[in-house]
Amino acid sequence: MAGKFSISKNCVGCGLCYLQYPEYFSETDDGLAEIVKGSFIDDQSKAEKIVAVCDVKAIAVAFTEGSKKAEAKKVLEKLKNFQGLTLPRESEFKFIRENYSAGYYRGSGEHRYEYSSESAAERAGLAEFERCMYSQIDAIILKIITEYRASLLKPYYTKNEAEKSVYVQINKKVSKLLSELKNIVGKELSESFTRIEVYPDNALVWKMLNKGELVSDELISPVRRKLDYSLNDYKMYLDTDDMERYAGTDWRGNSKYKDMYCYYNVSKACEELGKDIVNACYWASDTIEEQAYGAVKTLVEVYNKQLKKLISQKVAEAEKVVNAMPEDSPKKN
Ligand code: SF4
Repeated sequence: MAGKFSISKNCVGCGLCYLQYPEYFSETDDGLAEIVKGSFIDDQSKAEKIVAVCDVKAIAVAFTEGSKKAEAKKVLEKLKNFQGLTLPRESEFKFIRENYSAGYYRGSGEHRYEYSSESAAERAGLAEFERCMYSQIDAIILKIITEYRASLLKPYYTKNEAEKSVYVQINKKVSKLLSELKNIVGKELSESFTRIEVYPDNALVWKMLNKGELVSDELISPVRRKLDYSLNDYKMYLDTDDMERYAGTDWRGNSKYKDMYCYYNVSKACEELGKDIVNACYWASDTIEEQAYGAVKTLVEVYNKQLKKLISQKVAEAEKVVNAMPEDSPKKN
């Protein structure tokens, strides 16, 4: 015969019950008492003593309102029907253009009047633009895609709760059900029975996600194809200026002057290229999103398969004990 405690609305949160009998009571976020899930008491006189602890008579105990065995079977059913991690919706992996930027780039050597012609200054400006940003287009695309993946995929490849690992939440849910079962069944289930530490450990998937191998050529190429501007297309954003500079003396000793040229506004060209790169990522976002979603789908499937296997093992272990439990005869205290 097994007894189950209940708490009424009279509870004022004095704490006496959950401080003295944490195996049966715990504290809610509001400081009130609640029953530890799956907790039963076999000893009637001990149960009466516990009921008497509460000055406002908020604790009651009922013996065999449903047997321990029946309660255990209910939890076993819940475990058997546990669906695992739900696959997220594809719409959760949208590439939102406004959330990304190429970063800030600027050239050096601007406003130096050291070129003898305007075209020479123009060429130097373009070369500087190429050096400081245009030559790094692939790295910038990779940075944007990595940012996108880090923000949306991280919960699917981290084991860290602080990083919002989706697996930690599900592991906790299963662990809670196992604790409930263990509370009912008792010591016949081992200490490690409630421990659930399942993560997708498919070596290939982890390797791909952690090292970013999938975000190399496979994703950069589609973005590059959408970015069909040549280096010369950015020439229009660069500016030049000229200034008369002292150029020594002529044969009569008179000072000579010469027009010299400089370039500037490299940052303007960089800004335009940055916008074009983000737009190209957006235009190729179908591929980026599809690839990200595919990785998540694989991880969720791997995780669920492992989780179900472990739950089946735990259920089989618990079932042996539960089936051997005696049936209780209904009787109220
Ligand atoms: S002893 Fe009674 S009033 Fe105090 S926390 Fe427990 S149920 Fe609430």
